[in-house]
Amino acid sequence: DLRRVTRALISVSDKTGLIDLARALHGAGVELVSTGGTSKAIADAGLPVLDVSDLTGFPEMMDGRVKTLHPKVHGGLLAIRENPEHEAAMLAHGIQPIDLLVVNLYPFEATVAAGKAYDDCVENIDIGGPAMIRAAAKNHGDVAVVVDADDYALVLGEIAANNGATTLATRKRLAAKAYARTAAYDAAISNWFTKELGETSPTYRAIGGKLAETMRYGENPHQWAAFYRTPENRPGVATARQLQGKTLSYNNINDTDAAFECVAEFDPARAAAVAIIKHANPCGVAEGGSLVEAYRKALACDPVSAFGGIVALNRRLDAEAARAIVEIFTEVIIAPEADEDAIALVAAKKNLRLLVTGGLPDPRAEGLAMRTVAGGFLLQARDNAVVDDMALKVVTKRQPTAQELADMRFAFRVAKHVKSNAIVYVKDGATVGIGAGQMSRVDSSRIAAWKAAEAAKAAGLPESLAKGSVGASDAFFPFADGLLAAAEAGATAVIQPGGSMRDDEVIKAADEAGLAMVFTGHRHFRH
Ligand code: 5GP
Repeated sequence: DLRRVTRALISVSDKTGLIDLARALHGAGVELVSTGGTSKAIADAGLPVLDVSDLTGFPEMMDGRVKTLHPKVHGGLLAIRENPEHEAAMLAHGIQPIDLLVVNLYPFEATVAAGKAYDDCVENIDIGGPAMIRAAAKNHGDVAVVVDADDYALVLGEIAANNGATTLATRKRLAAKAYARTAAYDAAISNWFTKELGETSPTYRAIGGKLAETMRYGENPHQWAAFYRTPENRPGVATARQLQGKTLSYNNINDTDAAFECVAEFDPARAAAVAIIKHANPCGVAEGGSLVEAYRKALACDPVSAFGGIVALNRRLDAEAARAIVEIFTEVIIAPEADEDAIALVAAKKNLRLLVTGGLPDPRAEGLAMRTVAGGFLLQARDNAVVDDMALKVVTKRQPTAQELADMRFAFRVAKHVKSNAIVYVKDGATVGIGAGQMSRVDSSRIAAWKAAEAAKAAGLPESLAKGSVGASDAFFPFADGLLAAAEAGATAVIQPGGSMRDDEVIKAADEAGLAMVFTGHRHFRH
């Protein structure tokens, strides 16, 4: 599988390392063929080189758009050496084999990055280069292709070690790299076009997304944004029918999704449930005998934050609930369905969006969650763990009461939808204090307690709402302090994953404070 290199075609925009390469190849007895600029650089270094236009019999033309696009080049790259038919064709048409191709492409990416004009970018789309690279890589059985100046030494080393030849293993590796390069090059061109068109990245299309709409802007006014739908047919903001109100903004969609995914954790056959969301975090979640009852309980958790929030319901919106919701400024209502008289009530608020989804998504359903990082993106399975499926373990001396246990489950269900570190206090089927997104768990505990005290003050109640509540933590308490903060706030029971190195210490503290504590064995980080 050794292939002797007798002829090399070199065509490079980036001339780094070119002369050393050309000199070494010449020294190894390789004949050099080259395009205009490359050829001139090689000749200037005093090395013999055949101009590609002398090979093809055509001048380079049309601003360099047509230089190497010729059978004498492509035939030389694509001919299978040991195939008699290919050999005959070469002979008949005066085509000579090319055994090594060295190409780097017009700097399209750099031209775009430099903010150059449209026409400049277009002119920097290399045509002949990728065509040659793909041809040589296809014919890796006979031809070596180099697309990266970092590989010059590798190829020269191989030629030196194998008496002027390349090995199949290396040619295959080079071919793989070659196609990666042309693929990335075309992706860059496609990205640029879609951006010019105001559309968006093919990454999203790659995971099956379809452009639903381009938006006025993203999270902030200076950010471009678009909304994509995936084939996943999950009831929610992406598949909902909007019955009224302004178009949804980027933040509305994000927050509405968080709201509906949260409320979908609550079985509508068991109770009516309402989640009020701000900035993708719940500021009140509650169950009740009716939606209006659940709404009032949810609102009581944090009436200040609920202003301008998103309200998600697990049952058909009725007039009573609608009347209560429109009392304060609300951005979006999302529900599986809505009664006619409820729709009429909401219609009085022209800007308020009302979405109906036709059903609730299954919290146990599998799916993908995606986020970007600089230079890449992360995919993971969505968190479809549900507390009802977890083997709960009481770890304290005191067993929780039935009411505490019900509230603990409720609290852990909500904690799943609160940014980490999440602490949630719940009493009688309603959140009474939520601490979200803090960098320390004890801070989240304190914030949740403080919010519970504030909500009590606002309601004119003498005692914090957290008094007699239960607390949930989305991840284990690394120290006893977070747990003690919950006890101090008035919680009588705590639910948490467990699994800390200091579990014993935390359990001891719970026992000393007379708390009941349950381990779930599952964590609900949400970063
Ligand atoms: P040079 O500096 O040698 O004149 O040009 C080298 C560049 O031309 C390389 O980046 C190579 O990929 C590109 N190239 C070679 N053949 C063709 C062709 O037929 N059409 C276009 N558009 N580019 C080519």
